[in-house]
Amino acid sequence: MSVRDALYERVQEAGAEAFLVSAPANVRYLSGFSSPEDGVVVLLPERTILITDGRYLAQADEESTVEVVIARPWQEWLAATLQGVRLAVEADHMTLATYEQLSQELGHCPVRVSGLVEGHRLIKYEVEIAHLRRAAEITDAAFDHILEVIRPGIQEVEISLELERHMRLCGADSSSFDPIVASGPRSAMPHGRASQRVLRTGELVTLDFGAVVSGYHSDMTRTLALGKISAQHTALYDAVLTTQTEAIAAVVPGARGAELDRLARDRLAEQGLAEYFAHSLGHGVGLQIHEGPRLSQRFDDLLMPGMVITIEPGVYIPGDVGVRIEDLLAVTQEGTEVLSKSEKGLIQL
Ligand code: ZN
Ligand code: ZN
Repeated sequence: MSVRDALYERVQEAGAEAFLVSAPANVRYLSGFSSPEDGVVVLLPERTILITDGRYLAQADEESTVEVVIARPWQEWLAATLQGVRLAVEADHMTLATYEQLSQELGHCPVRVSGLVEGHRLIKYEVEIAHLRRAAEITDAAFDHILEVIRPGIQEVEISLELERHMRLCGADSSSFDPIVASGPRSAMPHGRASQRVLRTGELVTLDFGAVVSGYHSDMTRTLALGKISAQHTALYDAVLTTQTEAIAAVVPGARGAELDRLARDRLAEQGLAEYFAHSLGHGVGLQIHEGPRLSQRFDDLLMPGMVITIEPGVYIPGDVGVRIEDLLAVTQEGTEVLSKSEKGLIQL
């Protein structure tokens, strides 16, 4: 059964005859349209339509895999087309204001559904994995490049800009997110934005970055040493690396996200570091940088072939140091394909 038919069946089960898809990643997934913030997809009984505005006439015709309608505002077109047919909307994305306005235009309150398209996006098609593989290659190339650039005396923000520049020159649509560059005591902040701080010898620096290719994101973290670091910091690095390697080895179809997170947490606990592992082990990646499945104690998602996830244990000791190592990998029938290829042994620059 096609994705459209499967979705339509779920919509009917929910009591509706039409489905408005408005979350940008879902719009892109169902239509291929690369400006999904300015479009919606509508599933009607016999048609699937991308509605966008006149600015995108040529682009939508070229990119869309479904019928294109140019209409602004789309609410009016939809109300005129539906003629009272019951609509379902994506509750996780639509604002209350849009919902109320739409209810008035339609003359009924749309049925609210959740996670329908996201459920299909969990398992990637080969073409999607190919985009993710390419995004990971560009990320690896930027890492190789940045090793030539990083030296004591350089600012974090210079590293961040150079990573972005290199990825764009390699063909990335954009960065997956503003690259995280956190050096010295700032490395204890898991999401430290690159600042004007100057790197010094004897410190660790954490880089977390990725590239977007055809809408698909990569995500990788490496922690580097500038010159010689303390024995204590080396031991922290080794603990995180061992944990990360063991967690990746445990990724197989049928494993549960919570189990893998527990394994990593237990491994760090043996070294007295569990309290410093302040986030979950990993997340799914695709048209969004964070999507399902979740590898966390709070959820119990099952891993299946075709899923693309990160494994990213970290320890963060406030005021002192942080270490995180993150790879992007695809779950396969046999186990895993690690898409991130960059060196993981401690690199001393
Ligand atoms: Zn990351
Ligand atoms: Zn991540």
